[in-house]
Amino acid sequence: MRILVTGGAGFVGSNLCARLMEDDENEVWCLDNLSTGRVENIRPFLDRPRFTFLEQDVQEPVKLDVQQIYHTACPASPPAYQKDPVDTTKTCVLGTLNMLELARKCDAVLVNFSTSEVYGDPEEHPQREDYRGNVNPIGVRSCYDEGKRCAESLCFDYAREYGTAVKNIRIFNTYGKNMDPEDGRVVSNFIIQALKGEDLTVYGDGSQTRSFCHVDDLVEGIVRMMHTPREVTGPVNLGNPGEFTVRELAVKVLEKTGSKSKIICRPLPQDDPVRRKPDITKAKKLLDWEPKISLDEGLDRTIRYFEEGLRVWQRV
Ligand code: UDP
Repeated sequence: MRILVTGGAGFVGSNLCARLMEDDENEVWCLDNLSTGRVENIRPFLDRPRFTFLEQDVQEPVKLDVQQIYHTACPASPPAYQKDPVDTTKTCVLGTLNMLELARKCDAVLVNFSTSEVYGDPEEHPQREDYRGNVNPIGVRSCYDEGKRCAESLCFDYAREYGTAVKNIRIFNTYGKNMDPEDGRVVSNFIIQALKGEDLTVYGDGSQTRSFCHVDDLVEGIVRMMHTPREVTGPVNLGNPGEFTVRELAVKVLEKTGSKSKIICRPLPQDDPVRRKPDITKAKKLLDWEPKISLDEGLDRTIRYFEEGLRVWQRV
């Protein structure tokens, strides 16, 4: 089975590549322009014959004969996707268009990595897939939110117009191994700040909530989605329904690391969603899937990953 993973050197993409490489039948092609992905994440596979790395932007068409496409390529943390917002929109729209064309030509199955950001700052809670969202179309997050909404729209039009086999997943906040320590996400920021003895930067008063899913749970859900019957298109939410305030997360990280760091407040970014929690009824039913790793266990694992990482990074 030849499989293309766009964004395969990124956080989720590289965890997915690792999982796919476990199966000897799989030939994995990883496409990444390394704008936010890191070669470190795929180094274990670079000399393996069943693994090929293509350093390429997903905005350029890809010529390859594949059976499955996992399309994850796009900067995904708010600071990363806001750095070059026009390019983010182009990645979402042109990148997805290219992958849909490839899927159409090869009759491949495409799993499109969408996001809870399509719900914006949600007025319904928890978020079900039939909720249409509350996105500010002209705000600083819209390059990503609207870009991803347009990508979904393209997927469903390709399914209706050309019968392309698309599967759309909406990923909620995820954390774990291979997170970029500098991408500004809350879990990586807090753990690194705690380990370095720096202040933990809570944005706003920290009462906003998120639901954090460990990447191993997420990858299991993603692979199950790929293997659903052709008519299953989604969208399907993938995330952990355990909901925590950002301040609760900060306190947990301090307890677990035994850090003497303090919690300080910083201004809340524009359009930062107040609450977020997936309704995963659909995923349970269609994929027989639900997360198994608690936030406590997942944080312990991720703290160990960053402890080891900091030792290595400080040596170079
Ligand atoms: N956040 C924070 N401190 C940080 C980074 C993020 O308080 O150092 C907050 C952020 O404002 C948001 C939540 O944590 O409310 C999750 O942020 P993240 O960037 O991880 O992802 P988002 O869910 O906003 O896409």
